[in-house]
Amino acid sequence: MQEITTGLWQIDEIGDNVHCFLYEWRGGVTLIDTGYPGQTETILRLLRQRGYADHNLRRIILTHGDMDHSGSAAPLKRATGAKVACHTVEKAMLEEPKRRRTTWPLRPFLWFLSRFPGFTPPPVTPDELLVDGQELPEGFTVIHTPGHTPGHIALLHKASRVLISGDALVNTRHQLRPNTSPFTPDKENAKRSVWRLAKKYGDDIDTIVFGHGPPIRQNGGKRLKALASRLFSTEI
Ligand SMILES: [Zn+2]
Repeated sequence: MQEITTGLWQIDEIGDNVHCFLYEWRGGVTLIDTGYPGQTETILRLLRQRGYADHNLRRIILTHGDMDHSGSAAPLKRATGAKVACHTVEKAMLEEPKRRRTTWPLRPFLWFLSRFPGFTPPPVTPDELLVDGQELPEGFTVIHTPGHTPGHIALLHKASRVLISGDALVNTRHQLRPNTSPFTPDKENAKRSVWRLAKKYGDDIDTIVFGHGPPIRQNGGKRLKALASRLFSTEI
């Protein structure tokens, strides 16, 4: 794990492809995303290494319902008793993962994969439904960032000026970008979400962490505003 800011850890032990995050605070431990199916034991081991019992994991916040982020949510919830939270709009997808929409070239591929149990996350019932602008006890502000999925959220920790972007942004191949991969069915909304993130919260951000790609530890808000200005050819 690497510490991003006091108490916030990026979990690198679940593979290079995707990250999830552990946040230690006075209310216990909160996990943001869970990785693919099959990561439960790894995450519990890391929790224990930090000196916690399984039941200290009180809450799992899911940025969205994709398999690489919510894949281990159901078994982790069972093992720890943690409450699962997601955006109101994402609830249906978590309860019925086959509802996931993609762009059409991927559909036959995903249909094929869905026949293998390891490639479909087990359904999970969220316990708490979040809305845009909601302030969470951990100090996170919920920011609805639709596009990659309809109920995608990013989380801003204002006190430490950290944005957990989920898949609203990616930082792969040394490039900060909106997520307009084939897995994003609504690319226009994905770009609008980047604009809104930059316009409304750009000045509150130094560090950005991603589901995919290494953290940006300085000037994250500035780079986000530059990206949005470029996407819409309008200076923020
Ligand atoms: Zn992802």
